[in-house]
Amino acid sequence: TCAISPRAIVSDACASFSTLERLNRKVKPAVDELTKETDFFSYYRLNLFNKKCPFWNDENAMCGNIACAVNTIDSEEDIPKIWRASELSKLQGPSAQHPAKKIQKERPKKPLQGLLGENVGESCVVEYDDECDERDYCVPEDESASAKGDYVSLVHNPERFTGYAGEGAKMVWDAIYRENCFQRSSFPHSASLGTSPMAKGPAAQDFRNVLQDANRQQIVQQHSQNPSTTFAQTGLELEGECLEKRVFYRVVSGMHASISTHLCWDFLNQTTGQWQPNVGCYKGRLHTHPERISNLYFNYALLTRAIAKLGPHLQDYTFCSGDPEQDAATKAKVLAVTQGAASVPQIFDESLMFKNGEGPSLKEDFKNRFRNVSRVMDCVGCDKCRLWGKVQTAGYGAALKVLFEFDNDSQDIPVLGRTELVALFNTYARLSSSMNAIVGFRGMVEAEEKAT
Ligand code: FAD
Repeated sequence: TCAISPRAIVSDACASFSTLERLNRKVKPAVDELTKETDFFSYYRLNLFNKKCPFWNDENAMCGNIACAVNTIDSEEDIPKIWRASELSKLQGPSAQHPAKKIQKERPKKPLQGLLGENVGESCVVEYDDECDERDYCVPEDESASAKGDYVSLVHNPERFTGYAGEGAKMVWDAIYRENCFQRSSFPHSASLGTSPMAKGPAAQDFRNVLQDANRQQIVQQHSQNPSTTFAQTGLELEGECLEKRVFYRVVSGMHASISTHLCWDFLNQTTGQWQPNVGCYKGRLHTHPERISNLYFNYALLTRAIAKLGPHLQDYTFCSGDPEQDAATKAKVLAVTQGAASVPQIFDESLMFKNGEGPSLKEDFKNRFRNVSRVMDCVGCDKCRLWGKVQTAGYGAALKVLFEFDNDSQDIPVLGRTELVALFNTYARLSSSMNAIVGFRGMVEAEEKAT
């Protein structure tokens, strides 16, 4: 009963929290080494500045704080040689056996933008410069813009408190939670949602339309009595929802909880100018909302399973940075993480999803909704928050793709491009560090309680 199926509630009662914390203690050093000490996993290429918010006018929602800024890599000297434009322009398709080769051959639409140097005698994991694949759960970074984006060091732009808040941030979170309302599209493609708050307008109508059973009726009542209730809050009460909708909600809420944890843990004390944990912030956003913490742990279980499932296939990947010694070291670090993730019995049972009842018909809907969550990241008015929002939605997208698009017993091998792999492992690292911070915060709250 303690196995973490998507149906189970991760709770202390079932000791699952401690199982996951034990796993995290074991795997975290390898995750940190991989994401902080290898070039391959610490640089991310994305379109951070060139894409407009596709859903509403966000021109006045920009965060002007210095903490919101991102340092991009301006000088080519600062990125590994093999990734520089002069090298990238020499790229040909892969020339040797590689798990991704078949797929790469089928995708010759544009030159591959990747990590394959001229004299690299084997195929490397590449950066796809491609349209969305039907298996993808998020939109590729270069979906509409012609620019290939910028390289950003994830190590030098840590996710932490930025001061981004207010109406702009609220609109983004509300829009994300609104995607939880399946069956009706709350995000018509390219349509503007306007700025209407949840309580009125088409969004609230959507909400009412999807609430059908008795439990939902109750929520509607609560929502109309207290219009300031957000979708996020009401989402918690959708207990009668089918498994798939609940999983969608938990993924989003768990991501939100992880972002909140980081901003509370690495918080700027504006009096002393020190970056330090802020227990009050943790109490208000997380401690008093145990279900949010539970969703964060749920996400850790989900990513652990995706990484464990992907592990055997990564043995054949080459993580090219131009330096064979470094590439071998990177691969050893990747395998240390995947083996760690696989060292516990199967922790998340994805085979339960999209099977019974309305499940199969929900899969496309689920995917499209998750893609919308990734699109709404272009509406985030703080560069640093947008960077990490994009990394994490891409990371969850990659995990969902591995879990739900590849049968456990099929010969079909999950193929991920470089950007997806970097996002997946960095999202795992984010969750791992959030869990560590939550353990730390819990200790601080206990100490406070003892002292009073
Ligand atoms: P918010 O966190 O904005 O939450 C809005 C409402 O959602 C809450 O009132 C509550 O009802 C509900 N809610 C909150 N948490 C959850 C949850 N886990 N599950 C379900 N419902 C929930 N700020 C930074 O300082 N650093 C960052 O790196 C950063 N990254 C961001 C990334 C994104 C994509 C977005 C949209 C915002 C980011 N922010 C970041 C801003 C931050 O998330 C908050 O929006 C901001 O601090 C204001 O917080 P708040 O107290 O108004 O509540």
